[in-house]
Amino acid sequence: MSLHPVRPRILGFISEDVSAWLVALLVLLAGGILTGLLAWASLNQFHHQLRQRFQLLANERYSRIEERFQDQEQRLDGLRRFFANSYSVSRAEFDGYAKPLLLRTQAYSYAPRVSRAERPAIEQAVRNEGFSTFTLRELNAEGQLQAAGDRPEYVPVIYTQSRSHLPTPLGYDLLAQPLRRATLERADSTGHMAVSQPLHLVGIDPAYARGVLLLAPVSREGAPTGTSEGYVMAVISMQQLLADGLPEDNQDFLTVRILDLSTDDQHEVLYESANTAGASDLSATRLLRMADHDYQVDIQPSEAFLQANHSSVSSLVVLGALLSLLLSALLYVLVSQRQRALRMVELRTQELHAREQELRGTHGQLRGVLNAATQVAIIATDLRGVINTFNPGAEQMLGYSSADVVGHMTLENLHLPRELAARAAELSARYGKSIPTCHAMLVEGGEVGGHEAREWTLVRSDGSHLPVNMLATPVLDEQGLWVGHLAICIDITERKRVHEALAARDVLLKKLSAHVPGGIYQFKMEFDGRFSVIYASDGIRDIYELAPDVLLLDAEAIFSRIHPQDITRVRTSIRASADNLSPWREEYRVQLPERGLRWVRGEATPEELPGGGVLWHGYISDISDLKRVEEELRALSVTDSLTGIHNRRYFQERLTTEMARVERGGGELSVIMLDIDHFKRINDQYGHAVGDRVLQAVCERIGHRLRRTDVFCRLGGEEFMVLCPDIDGEHAYMLAVELWQGLRGAPVDVVGVVTASFGIASWRPGEGADALLLRADSGVYAAKQGGRDRVEQMS
Ligand code: GH3
Ligand code: MG
Ligand code: MG
Repeated sequence: MSLHPVRPRILGFISEDVSAWLVALLVLLAGGILTGLLAWASLNQFHHQLRQRFQLLANERYSRIEERFQDQEQRLDGLRRFFANSYSVSRAEFDGYAKPLLLRTQAYSYAPRVSRAERPAIEQAVRNEGFSTFTLRELNAEGQLQAAGDRPEYVPVIYTQSRSHLPTPLGYDLLAQPLRRATLERADSTGHMAVSQPLHLVGIDPAYARGVLLLAPVSREGAPTGTSEGYVMAVISMQQLLADGLPEDNQDFLTVRILDLSTDDQHEVLYESANTAGASDLSATRLLRMADHDYQVDIQPSEAFLQANHSSVSSLVVLGALLSLLLSALLYVLVSQRQRALRMVELRTQELHAREQELRGTHGQLRGVLNAATQVAIIATDLRGVINTFNPGAEQMLGYSSADVVGHMTLENLHLPRELAARAAELSARYGKSIPTCHAMLVEGGEVGGHEAREWTLVRSDGSHLPVNMLATPVLDEQGLWVGHLAICIDITERKRVHEALAARDVLLKKLSAHVPGGIYQFKMEFDGRFSVIYASDGIRDIYELAPDVLLLDAEAIFSRIHPQDITRVRTSIRASADNLSPWREEYRVQLPERGLRWVRGEATPEELPGGGVLWHGYISDISDLKRVEEELRALSVTDSLTGIHNRRYFQERLTTEMARVERGGGELSVIMLDIDHFKRINDQYGHAVGDRVLQAVCERIGHRLRRTDVFCRLGGEEFMVLCPDIDGEHAYMLAVELWQGLRGAPVDVVGVVTASFGIASWRPGEGADALLLRADSGVYAAKQGGRDRVEQMS
C-alpha cells in the first residue's frame, strides 16, 4: 500500500489553514511536557528504588557489624570459660587457645588479680618463664611504661597473644589507668563482660592503636559476683574489626561511621570509612550493642553507590527532547508538504478550469466553423465507421439531414458501392491482404504524396451521384489514440466540367498544331531573365530535334541547337522584343544532330506579364528550302552570266561595304581596273563568239592569280575590276603587274596574246568611292594613252 492514501488520514485532524510552524511548535511543546512528566515519574521511581537498595545494603551491613560484635563477645566468652574451668592455665595453653582466635582482634590477654604481697612471687614466676626483665608496670606522664608504684592490688597482664609486632606490654597494670580500671569495676559489678571507653591501646600498631578493650571477669563456677580471680580481654581496634573483609574503598557502596556514646558530651568517632559519602539525603543510623556498650552506627551511601545507581532520567530527557524535535520536524514537513500539495491542487484546478473554458471556446469555434463551411462537407465517424458529425455543408451537398445520418449511417453508405469495391480490390492487390470496402476510402494508397485527397463518387439521398474530392484522415485524441476518422469533401462537379472542357480544347490544339508545318510555342522570360518554355507543339520536335517535354524542362536546350554565328543575334533580338514589346521575327540557322544545318524562321508576339517578365506566343518554321532558292537567286543577281565572275552590282555592293569598313576603322583598300586592248578588233577579226571566249579566257587567267579575299568583277564589255581589301598601293601595283604579265604571257587559243591596260588606285582617307574609281579609270586611260599593255598607278 502506498504512503499517499495514508497521509491525509494522519493529518486529517490538523486544519489545512494552520501554519506548519505552529503545528511543529505545538508538537514540540507537547513533546516537552510529556517528556517532563515521564522524567518526573521516572525520577520518583528511581529515588524509591535507590532508597530500597540503600536500605537493603545498610541492613546487611548492620547485620554484619552486629555479627562481628557478637563474634567478639563469643570468642572472649570462650576464653573466659577456658580459664574458669581450668585449675591453672599455663602460658603455653593460653597461647595455644588464644592464637587461633586472633581474627579481627588485635590481641587477647589475661590479667590476674595480684595483691601487693603476691607481686614479688608473680614477678619472679614470670621471670622464670624467660621474661628476665618482667616487672609490674604502669604508664608514666610521657606515656612510657615504667615499674608500677606500690599499690595494694594490681591487675597486670601476664599472658598476651597479639597480632602486633610491637613488644607486648607484659606486666602492664590495668588498675593503674583510670579508664581501664573503670571498665574492670563495671565488669566486676555486673559479673559480665564490659567494654572500655575508647582508649589508646598499648603495644598495638599505631594504625590500630585507638580502640576498646572487651573485658570479661574470670571467676570459678558458682563463685559470687565481684570475686573474680582475673580478667580475660580482647583488644579490639574498630578500624580492623569493621574494615576487614569489606570491598575496597572505591568499590564500597556504603560509608560507615561508628560513634562511641559512652561519654555524653563528646561522641568519639571510632571508625569511619575511608571512602567519601555521596551527595545524597539517604542515611541510616542504628545503635548496636557490644557487651554493655551501645555504639551509634551511621551509614550513608558512597559515591560509588551513587555512580552505580545513577538515574537514566537525563537520557530519557535527551531522548524525549530528540523525539519531540524529530516528531515536530516530521509534522512540519508533512504539514508544509500537504499545504504545498493543496496549493498545487488548487493551482491545477484553476488551470483545468481555464483549460475547460478554453476548450469550450474552441469547441464553440469548431462548431461555428463546421456550420459556416457550407461549401465543404465535413463528416466525422467513430472507429466503427458510424457517422457522428455531419455539418450543414454535408447536408446541403448530399441532401440528408444531420439527424438522419448521425448514429445511423456509415461513411461507406454514402459511397458508390462499385467504386469502393474496385478501390478495395486495387488496395488488396497492392498490399497483399484483404482490404474491406468500408476501409477502402480510408487506407492510403501509398501513392506519391501520401495523405492526398482522392476523387470519389458519393450518392445523394435522391440517388443522384456527386463527384467529390475527399481527404480522409484519422482522428486522434490527446493521448494519440485513434478514435475515429474525419472526411472532408469538396464538390468537384464544376471543376470536372471545366477540366473536361479544357481537355477538349487541348485535343483540338494538338490536332491543329499537328497539321500546321512548324511548331507553335509559348516562351516565357522571367523578371530575372531566365527563359522557360510554357508550351511547345509536336512540330517543335522537327525544328530543333528536341522533344517538347525536354523543352518544357529546359528552355536553354534551344540555344544549344542554334548556330554559333547566329546565337548572339537571336538573343539580342529576343531581348529587344522583350524591352520594346515589339513582335519578334528572326531567321537563323540551327545545327541539328540528324539533319545538319537548317534555316528556321521564328515569329512571336510578346505580352507583358503582371508580375514582370514577358510571354511570347509564336510559331517557328523550317525555311531551308526558301533560303536555298533565295541564295540561288541572289547568286544569279550578282554573277556575270558570260564569265561567271561577279557583276557590276556585286562590285558596287562590296565597294560600299569595304568603303564603310575603311571609313569606320581605317585600313587599306585598293582597286585594280583593267580594259582589254583593241578588243573591238578581235570581235571584228574572229567574230563575236570568239570575243566571248577571249573574255572567258582572260577572266580565267586573271582569277587564277587572285587571293580568296580579292573580289573580281566584270563591270561591263571588256572592262574588269579587282577589289583588294587590306592592300595598299604598293602591293596592289605588284599584284597588277603580276596579273598583266600573267595575261600577256599566256596566249589565248585562236587569237594569240591578249593584253590589257591596268589602272590602280588605293583609298585615301576622306576619299569617296566615286573619286577612287575615277582615279582607277584615269589610270586605265593613262595606260591606253601610253600605248596600252601596261600598268599605271594613279597617285
Ligand atoms: P581600245 O584599245 O581603245 O580599248 O579599243 P577597243 O576596241 O578595245 O575599244 P572599244 O571601246 O572601241 O571597243 C569595244 C568593243 O567591245 C565594242 C564592242 O563590240 C565589243 N564588245 C562589247 N561587249 C562585247 C561582248 O559581250 N562580246 C563581244 N564579242 N564583244 C563585245
Ligand atoms: Mg578596250
Ligand atoms: Mg572598253
